[in-house]
Amino acid sequence: MQKITSLPADDSMPGWFHTSESRIPRPSHIGHKKARRAIVGAGLTGLAAARQLALHFPDEEVVLIEAQEVGYGSAGRNAGFAIDVPHDIGAKDYIGDVSIANLILKLNTLGQITLRQVIQDHAIDCQLTESGKYQAAAGEEGIAILQAYRRGLAKIGRESEIISGAALPDHIGTSYYKQALFIPGTALLQPAALVKGLADSLPANVTLYEYTPVTAIDYGDKITLIHDKGSITVDTLILANNGFASHFGFLKGRLLPTFLYGSLSRQLTPEEQARLGGKAVWGLIPAHPFGSTLRRTPDNRILVRNSFSFQPDGRPREKHLKQFFKNHRHSFERRFPMLPGVNFEYTWSGAICLSDNHEGFFGKLAPNVYGALCCNGLGITRGTATGKLIADMIAGERNELIDFLTASPGPNKTPPEPFLSAGVNSVLKWGHYRAGAEV
Ligand SMILES: Cc1cc2nc3c(=O)[nH]c(=O)nc-3n(C[C@H](O)[C@H](O)[C@H](O)COP(=O)(O)OP(=O)(O)OC[C@H]3O[C@@H](n4cnc5c(N)ncnc54)[C@H](O)[C@@H]3O)c2cc1C
Repeated sequence: MQKITSLPADDSMPGWFHTSESRIPRPSHIGHKKARRAIVGAGLTGLAAARQLALHFPDEEVVLIEAQEVGYGSAGRNAGFAIDVPHDIGAKDYIGDVSIANLILKLNTLGQITLRQVIQDHAIDCQLTESGKYQAAAGEEGIAILQAYRRGLAKIGRESEIISGAALPDHIGTSYYKQALFIPGTALLQPAALVKGLADSLPANVTLYEYTPVTAIDYGDKITLIHDKGSITVDTLILANNGFASHFGFLKGRLLPTFLYGSLSRQLTPEEQARLGGKAVWGLIPAHPFGSTLRRTPDNRILVRNSFSFQPDGRPREKHLKQFFKNHRHSFERRFPMLPGVNFEYTWSGAICLSDNHEGFFGKLAPNVYGALCCNGLGITRGTATGKLIADMIAGERNELIDFLTASPGPNKTPPEPFLSAGVNSVLKWGHYRAGAEV
């Protein structure tokens, strides 16, 4: 019997969750039951896996188990960029090896197509806008990164438009940036509204249990998932719980749960919107990976996302939230001096799962245990695609993308504690410092 040593415990003010329509969560599981297949984790990956498994096995029950409420975890806490193009932060031009980049483009595109189809079929109101993204630089170093990225995108046949600093206020209101690339293809959305909608439109043969944290697991001939009010015994298990998979006994010392922080402003008044100017909806990614991501949302709020911390147990710390709120305020004020007095209504953190070699895990972890894990920060499209593909693989399918994913060496091993935390935290602090004006 494997005891789960750490459970999700996200903080209480995730802006997207509270500003999207509330729903009645599905009841937690009580008692003892058996099913053929279960998935742990109802984020983007688990929701996609459940939907696809249910389509492959229409006469069988698929059980989806979530520790919190759907939309309350990272899948509902992200910045809402559903990105198609690769964003390999390990490569100088964010593209790296062209043949791999082309496969990642295919994978992300599959995620986008899958999401668009479900959103359309079920009329999920998640503010989806085909806005593209701005990749922007506030300093000379950032401009050099943009130029490298533009060359990298050209290698995979993707166009980008250079927008001068002088022209940028017509796009994004602020005159803070010196240059940007406009890259079409990215869709922007309200992430919590998306995953709530995905949960409420699951096929009838999916049983979703929310507020059901798995606290122990028995990997026998059958797999028994134990929780506080009972157990669920299955033939096949898919782990779609990102960094928490290491607490289920897999990929120990290979998954790096890293917290990102976001703040969402109150809604701008019509007068403030006029003062800001620019387009009604846009999304901006910093040239430097440690810089600030920004959005102007369809309901006229500004999102600021920056700052990182590493928590090996996957649980946030209150002190970081207080500390990084100040970073968000500072970033907002220097970009939007025309919006004095616009406060943040929400500030939150969320864990992403990184790996040292930027590889995720996809495939078999043990007999009858599969995983689609470690999205390295871009889980909206990748998580959707890998969730769908792991279900296809279990159903016996093989294709170019499944072969590509299973051929990955997976996340590599990292040094033991306390060296790991010390090392990762100093990389994060150094990155934040190096990003300078991009933060
Ligand atoms: C601030 C922020 C900004 C981001 N911006 C973007 C972005 O713009 N675009 C993008 O693509 N990605 C972005 N990301 C990353 C993205 O949110 C993640 O990659 C994505 O959520 C991964 O999806 P997932 O389903 O694999 O894992 P998760 O969303 O982490 O879902 C895993 C689920 O497993 C559950 N779980 C864990 N342990 C247990 C247990 N013992 N029992 C039951 N359930 C359990 C958790 O509660 C959780 O809901 C961002 C993340 C953050 C935090």
